Amino acid sequence: MKHSISIDTYECNGCGSCVEICPEVFQMDENGEKAVVVNPSPNITAQVEEAAAYCPSKCISYVHDQP
Ligand code: SF4
Repeated sequence: MKHSISIDTYECNGCGSCVEICPEVFQMDENGEKAVVVNPSPNITAQVEEAAAYCPSKCISYVHDQP
């Protein structure tokens, strides 16, 4: 099954928590102000779920696309 993951960059406060938890999917942008998704269709691992759960702005979302 395919997935897609995204960040609402308006809501992102740049805390870096998601990057610490799951750097394979999330990195900070070149200014270090917002997180960006570097792997937009990852397998949804425990780390991805944890990053979304711990995001203080609740701005990480992922959907399970139809195969
Ligand atoms: S955890 Fe959420 S608020 Fe913090 S950098 Fe990542 S997306 Fe932005």
